[in-house]
Amino acid sequence: MFLSVGVRVEANVEALNMVETAGNYGKHRRVPYLIEEDGKLKTVYVPALSGESLAHAYQEHLVKEALGLDLPVCDDCKRNEFYKSMNKVHLKKKVDPIPDDPKKIEEAIVRACVVEDVGGFLYAEKPPVRRSSAFQVSYALPVKSVALFATSEPQLHARHAQMDASSKKGNASEQMIYYVETGTALYGFTFNLDLDAIGVSAITSEPILDKSEIKGRREASLKALFRMLSSGQFGAKLSRFFPVGGITELVVAVTEHPFVVTSPIYDDYIERTERRLKVLESLGEDYLLVVADSGKVPEEALKEAMDYLGEKGAF
Ligand SMILES: [Zn+2]
Repeated sequence: MFLSVGVRVEANVEALNMVETAGNYGKHRRVPYLIEEDGKLKTVYVPALSGESLAHAYQEHLVKEALGLDLPVCDDCKRNEFYKSMNKVHLKKKVDPIPDDPKKIEEAIVRACVVEDVGGFLYAEKPPVRRSSAFQVSYALPVKSVALFATSEPQLHARHAQMDASSKKGNASEQMIYYVETGTALYGFTFNLDLDAIGVSAITSEPILDKSEIKGRREASLKALFRMLSSGQFGAKLSRFFPVGGITELVVAVTEHPFVVTSPIYDDYIERTERRLKVLESLGEDYLLVVADSGKVPEEALKEAMDYLGEKGAF
């Protein structure tokens, strides 16, 4: 089974994805973006959140949900340091001595850690072993029709330190000013989860784990997505720049085989997704499409999709 979610989220004055600090200036990630204006194409630079940043947040939630279901997570991933068995030093913590057979290496890693099973890894030694992530996440980009209203703007802040004249030395100052570039936009992003890839070897396509363990890991993966979207716990600087806004729309499609919802950066993404699914249905594919807009909250839509997957025996 395959799950694809399109999310529209309004985020005002957010600093969810900062890319560099130059002196006292923290810069928001920005990407070139193609838009059409008066029948002509032009490129504008808009604030964005990287897929890497969203994927990191998802895997943090996955750690918590997996541990909550008594499923294995390795020590590195437990600390939210997703090295992913990248070399001998990290792999030895899971299997020692390290086997020569790539299949045995993959099996040992998948058995030892839900995050590396679901989120993939690259063991860059001899022999190299690579496992693709069972989940995919796009960049969050401003919705096309209103992309020109998306902005990044630096905000001035000051840090103060209490000092009397005697403790003042050299360049030490009572006050330091700094700027945080904040973004404001209606963002759209896509999240996909291939439930059939969980607990299954990427080398042989054979299951590595037994059915009940695979079902448990699928449940943890779905709960992690639910929690991430419901809590808004993704991106950086949440302590002082928690974005003002929230999810405005969300679509969830569940299909037998891979299918990705039309990107929510387009205004007609819900209708187009539905039309595309109807064609698949005429070819014999079962599907579920749930939409959360004015009539339904995102949690209701996600829960409906989870119930459907439960009925279908996915977890
Ligand atoms: Zn791990």
